[in-house]
Amino acid sequence: MIIINDILIIICYNIGMSLNLELKKYLKEMELDLSDENISDIDIYIREINAWNAKADLTALKDYESMFVNLFLDAFTVTPFIKEDSTLIDIGTGAGFPGLALKIFNRDLKITLIEASSKKCVFLNHISNLLNMKNVNVLWGRAEEMGRDISYREKFDYATCRAVACMSTISELCIPFVKVGGQFIASKGKDKAEITQAEGVIKNLGGAIDKIDNIKYSFFNEEKNIVVISKSKETPEKYPRRNGVPQKRPLR
Ligand code: SAH
Repeated sequence: MIIINDILIIICYNIGMSLNLELKKYLKEMELDLSDENISDIDIYIREINAWNAKADLTALKDYESMFVNLFLDAFTVTPFIKEDSTLIDIGTGAGFPGLALKIFNRDLKITLIEASSKKCVFLNHISNLLNMKNVNVLWGRAEEMGRDISYREKFDYATCRAVACMSTISELCIPFVKVGGQFIASKGKDKAEITQAEGVIKNLGGAIDKIDNIKYSFFNEEKNIVVISKSKETPEKYPRRNGVPQKRPLR
């Protein structure tokens, strides 16, 4: 019995080692320095995603490495654009990406997460408690409604958003939350035309594209773009339009 246990331990240890080396290579490629505590937080987070996935429908990703890369490393591509000790709202955060993942790397951020699914909100509160995170505010609801609420409208240094809708739609959902002088940082895929076509819409919402940062790492399936939008004017009162309209009829 003891021998069997020993063999099992050796096998598990070896699997862990090879995975770690591969992931360390990725971190080096990104020039990202994660502490042991960061890695431990990510381990716990992934363990909990696996435990909650069936009931909260969190992700289609199945294994540790694909979650590490496509959820966490993807979220960390936003980190260089965020100043420490600022306020950030993540819209349509799902299981917390990029918003709650950014908090792992920068514990001083004050984070608000908006998510329409109540089950996902329960999960987000569970994770932030488990990882002992302070200044995390989970809001269950729709961005269209929250963006009209004076407690949240034009209150944040940054808004972030990933994998929610096209550039025009997310601009209408997210820019209203950003204070004048703040930024909307959108994580987008490789389609640059979709981004540049939204330029006029972004202007009408009070913003302007500062920069489109093209991201190419060997471990991502395809290239990505981080769109940095600076807000210089208040968003007109009529935006965002009512629930569902920004998705159904994107501004043009
Ligand atoms: N940003 C996450 C999740 C993407 S899936 C990630 O990259 O992994 C899109 C999420 O946005 C879903 O969880 C959905 O419930 C939420 N969502 C879509 N439209 C929304 C809206 N108008 N207001 C709030 N949440 C919304």
